[in-house]
Amino acid sequence: MQMEKPQSPLRLNIDQAALAGNWRALDRLSGSARAGAAVKADAYGLGARSVVPILRGAGCQDFFVAHWVEAAEIVDLLDPKTLAVLHGPLTTHDAVFAVQTGVRPVINSLYQARLWLDAGGGLCDLMVDTGMSRLGIDLKELSDPLIQSLEIDTLLSHLVAAEDDTPLNEQQKALWLDARQAVRHQRGSLANSAGIALGAGYHGDLTRPGLALYGGVPCSALASTIQQVARPTAAILQVRELEVGQTVGYNHLFTAARSMRVGAVALGYADGFLRCWTGQGACLWQGKRLPVLGRVSMDMVVIDLDEAPELAEGDYVEVAYALPEASVRSGLSQYELLTLLGQRFER
Ligand SMILES: *Cc1c(COP(=O)(O)O)cnc(C)c1O
Repeated sequence: MQMEKPQSPLRLNIDQAALAGNWRALDRLSGSARAGAAVKADAYGLGARSVVPILRGAGCQDFFVAHWVEAAEIVDLLDPKTLAVLHGPLTTHDAVFAVQTGVRPVINSLYQARLWLDAGGGLCDLMVDTGMSRLGIDLKELSDPLIQSLEIDTLLSHLVAAEDDTPLNEQQKALWLDARQAVRHQRGSLANSAGIALGAGYHGDLTRPGLALYGGVPCSALASTIQQVARPTAAILQVRELEVGQTVGYNHLFTAARSMRVGAVALGYADGFLRCWTGQGACLWQGKRLPVLGRVSMDMVVIDLDEAPELAEGDYVEVAYALPEASVRSGLSQYELLTLLGQRFER
C-alpha cells in the first residue's frame, strides 16, 4: 500500500505572476543591462526549484547561488553556463565539479584562482573587493599573473549600503570601474536590488537582484514597483472562548479584558516566526487583521478571532507578511523574514 503524504498545516504560497513581474520590472529598471537573479539560500527561502523555472520563463538568463550544494540542486533546471557560485571553490572537489558541469565559479582570492587553474580552469567570474572586506580580490592583486590568466565572464563587485544615501556608493563604483580597466572580462556587474535604483552608472552589463524579486523593498524608489510574492498561511488547530481574566500562552503575557473567541494556529518560532512577533504579529482574513495574542510558542500562536466569527478549526489563515511592514513590526530585516521560514512550510 502506498502511504498517503500528510498535508502540512503550513503552506508558503508563491505568487508566480508577482515573482515574474518583479523580475521584469527590475530588468526594465536595469536599462541597457540585463537583470540576473540571486537564488542563493533556496531562493531566499521560497524554494529555488520552483523559483528558477518561473524566472527563466520571465526571461532571466543569469543565476547566482552561494554554495556548490545549492548549484547541484538546480543545475538540471538551466544551462549550467548561466549559473555562478558566489563563494567560489574552497576545495579541488568544488573546482572539479565546476569543470565537469560548466557552472561558473566566482573567483574571490588568489588561492581560489590557483585551485581553479589547477583543475583545468575555463570561463569563470571574478569578484573584486571595493569596500565590503568580505570576499573578493584586492584591486592591487589584479595585476597578479594568476588573475591575468583567468578567462573572465563577469567581473563583479558588491555594494556595502546601496539602500543608503552614502558617498560610499560612488567610491565603490569608481573602484569597480578601475578594476574593469585592469583586467580583461566580458561583462561587468555591481548592483544588487537597491543598487539598481542608484541609476545607469551602477548597472554595467548585468544586475543581480535578490530581495526585490521576492517582494522585498530595500529602498523607497522601488516601493511602487515591487509586489509581494511570498504569503505564508497556517491552519487553525483549535478554537476556544475566553472569559474575562483568562490568560493566553507561556508566561501569561496576554490577559483577556473581555470575553473573546481565539484560535490556536500551527505556526511557531520553529517555523521562523520568532518570539519577536509576540504582541506584534497578526493573521489576515478577508481584509481583517487578527492579532497574535501572547507569546509565540515553538509550534503555535494564538490569534484573536473576534473579527472573523466564521473561521473554524481546519481553516487556513494568511500570516501578515508584507515585508516592509513586517520588518518594522518584528525588528527583523526583510532578508531574515524570508530566509527564516522553516522546513515545515509546504512550498
Ligand atoms: C545576495 C547577493 C546579491 C543580491 O542582493 P539583494 O540585496 O538581495 O538584491 C547580489 N550580489 C551578491 C554578491 C550577493 O551576495
